[in-house]
Amino acid sequence: MEKGKLLYEGKAKQLFETDDPEIIWVEYLNQATALNGAKKDQISGKGELNNRITGIIFDFLRKKGIKNHFIKHLSANEQLIQSVEIIPLEVVVRNVAAGSFSKRLAVSEGTPLKAPIVEFYYKNDELDDPMVNEDHIQFLKLATTDELIQLRQMALAVDQALVGLFDSIDIQLIDFKLEFGRRKDGSLLLADEISPDTCRLWDKKTKEHLDKDIYRRDLGDIVPVYQEVLNRLEKRGE
Ligand code: UDP
Repeated sequence: MEKGKLLYEGKAKQLFETDDPEIIWVEYLNQATALNGAKKDQISGKGELNNRITGIIFDFLRKKGIKNHFIKHLSANEQLIQSVEIIPLEVVVRNVAAGSFSKRLAVSEGTPLKAPIVEFYYKNDELDDPMVNEDHIQFLKLATTDELIQLRQMALAVDQALVGLFDSIDIQLIDFKLEFGRRKDGSLLLADEISPDTCRLWDKKTKEHLDKDIYRRDLGDIVPVYQEVLNRLEKRGE
């Protein structure tokens, strides 16, 4: 497989063409950003960790019957994925109150939610990714009614699978963000990444943050923390 020209550069990844139009070459970058890019740093080792963690999680989800775009790892910080048209929505699932949910609704961080809550945000940096409801999504033609039903179902299935996965390595899955893509035949695939950059992960016993809140809130170095998540996931596979 040949690495072709740069197609897209995001905050944490670069996407390249390959000689197969259905396949994209992804390079995970050592860049961390927060506050819609206002806070930005180079963090050596971060790209490798998120590449590895995402691959393990996507393989696990595939085994649970959740279709996703991950094909295989190429190197420490590179992977191949299926080409999809990304739906410009961030689908957030919450099991425990934290972050923007806690702030907006004045619910203390750490309050368990009786049932998972699904939220949609419009992926648009200029607008600062506003939260949207199903009527907004239809008005903006971001997804069809049928796709919205599928997105919700897939997001809840991912939640159920990941709560179990993380629980088995003594981590509580607080919340996370997903992105989905459309294939040419119109079917939906889970896409993007699932890593401590996109999830809130709390150690079950100590309640320590094992995720990007360490960076967002200046609580310390993220590399040893992300490494700890990877170590626990790898040990589980033994
Ligand atoms: N999240 C993400 N990318 C974003 C916004 C949120 O991966 O652009 C993840 C975040 O890591 C957390 C969940 O989505 O696991 C919910 O984030 P929240 O809405 O609480 O926003 P934040 O507090 O990060 O601003």
